[in-house]
Amino acid sequence: MKSLAEGLNRNTVASYLDAHLHLQDQRLRAQLPLVIARARQKGVEQFFCNATSENDWTRVVELAQTIPGVIPFIGIHPWYADLATEGWKDRFCMILEQHSCGVGEIGLDKRCPVDSIHQVALFKAQVQLALRYHRPLVVHCVRSWGAVVDTVEQEFAGPDAPPVMLHSYSGSVETMWRLVKAGAYISFSTRLLGRTEARLKKVLVETPVERILLETDAPDQLVAGWMERGGRSYNEPMWIADLYHKVAQLKKINVEDLKVSVWENGKVFTHTAASRR
Ligand SMILES: [Zn+2]
Repeated sequence: MKSLAEGLNRNTVASYLDAHLHLQDQRLRAQLPLVIARARQKGVEQFFCNATSENDWTRVVELAQTIPGVIPFIGIHPWYADLATEGWKDRFCMILEQHSCGVGEIGLDKRCPVDSIHQVALFKAQVQLALRYHRPLVVHCVRSWGAVVDTVEQEFAGPDAPPVMLHSYSGSVETMWRLVKAGAYISFSTRLLGRTEARLKKVLVETPVERILLETDAPDQLVAGWMERGGRSYNEPMWIADLYHKVAQLKKINVEDLKVSVWENGKVFTHTAASRR
C-alpha cells in the first residue's frame, strides 16, 4: 500500500508540530530557552502559541517575532471573559491589522464560574473578528458542544471561510463527525497519554488523519508520572513526540507518515494567517 508520505510532496518537512500551547505562561517563562531547546532537540519545529487574556497579547506577538517557528494566536479565553476591558475590541483589531496572528484561544466552558452571558457575547464577537480578518480560529469547548458546532456549521463550513480547530478535543464521535463534515480540524492533547482515556482514544481512532492536529497545551495537561521526571511540574512541548508515537500506534499508521500529515494540516492554519497580513 502506498504510504501517505509518498503521496505528498517529497520536500515536505516532517518535523513535529505542537498545535496548541502557551509559551507566554509564567510557569514556562523563566525556563523558556531551555524548554525550546529541549523541544528542538526532539525535532519540534513549530509551536502554535495561544494567548488567554488581554494581558498576554503583546508577549505572544513578541515571542513569535523572536523565536523561529512560533505562530501567534491572540484571544480571550472563556475563563477570563469577565475581565475583558472596555477597549478590548479596538486593541484586538489593531493587533490583527499589524501582525499575522490567528484568533485563539476563545470558546465556551460550562465548567468555569464565569457567567455564560459574558462567555457567549465574547465568543461571538471574537468569531466575527476571525471572519472579518479571515484568520484561523482556535476554539476551547467544554460541555458546550451545541453552540460551538452550530457556530462552526453556520460560519466556517463555506469554501472561503478561515480554518477552525477544536483544541484538546473532548467531545463524542458523533460531534467529531459533524465538525469534520463542516471542515473543522480536531486537535488531540497529551491527555491521550494518560491511562484512563478509553473514550477519547476511541474518538481518535475514528477521526480522519487528514483532520488531526496534536498538541501539548503546555504548561497545562501534565500527565502524572513520567512528565514529572527531573522535578518539573509542568507540561512542555518536547512531550509532543511521545504523543505522536502514541497516536500512530492507536491509529496503526507509521509515525513518519503521521508527522507529514499533521504538518500538512498545520499549514492550512499558518498559510491562512500569513496570507492576510
Ligand atoms: Zn490552551
